[in-house]
Amino acid sequence: MSIEAEAELKKIKNEILNCKKCPLFEERVNNKYYPVIGAGNHEASIVFIGEAPGLNEAKTGKPFCGMAGKILDELLQSVDIKREDIYITNILKDRPPGNRDPRPEEISACLPYLKRQIKIIKPKVICSLGRYAMNFLMENFELADQIDQISNIHGKVFTTNDLFQNVIIIPFYHPAAVIYNRSLKNTLLQDFKILEKFK
Ligand code: URA
Repeated sequence: MSIEAEAELKKIKNEILNCKKCPLFEERVNNKYYPVIGAGNHEASIVFIGEAPGLNEAKTGKPFCGMAGKILDELLQSVDIKREDIYITNILKDRPPGNRDPRPEEISACLPYLKRQIKIIKPKVICSLGRYAMNFLMENFELADQIDQISNIHGKVFTTNDLFQNVIIIPFYHPAAVIYNRSLKNTLLQDFKILEKFK
């Protein structure tokens, strides 16, 4: 990665650390949380995007480090992909109180950071984790007309021309869904196999 690209990622990090564009900043400060900026390989061909940090993530500043993260690690291991090979971030960089759904003003404050991160990393594939990230990515990357229920389109490959090059978007169920519905684990294991083509 070029020095300029690394510098730009650093700049985004500093901007997020100082961002006061939405009320989640106060939440962060009052609770001594960290923003979860993203982690992994800055030259990854595969980027994973979740919804927002949970409590463990906000306490550590690391994405997917709690229960959902453990399941994600198992899924990655099943296709021999390491966290160091990929980049993981979320739509929101700060934790919504009580893990409530992100609000439109929070999304619009955070969206530019995510778009910039994607444009610097230039992945071949973006994987959304969960229905929320799926809708959000497809709406924002000119795939709105192909949005369907996640039960119909999980594991399917979509291509967007709305980024720096053709980028593939693959919606997956959220790993945390497995905690409530064990049978989704097999579905996720099956769906993750598609990533073998892209690593
Ligand atoms: N769930 C998410 O969507 N993101 C995280 O970082 C952790 C849990």
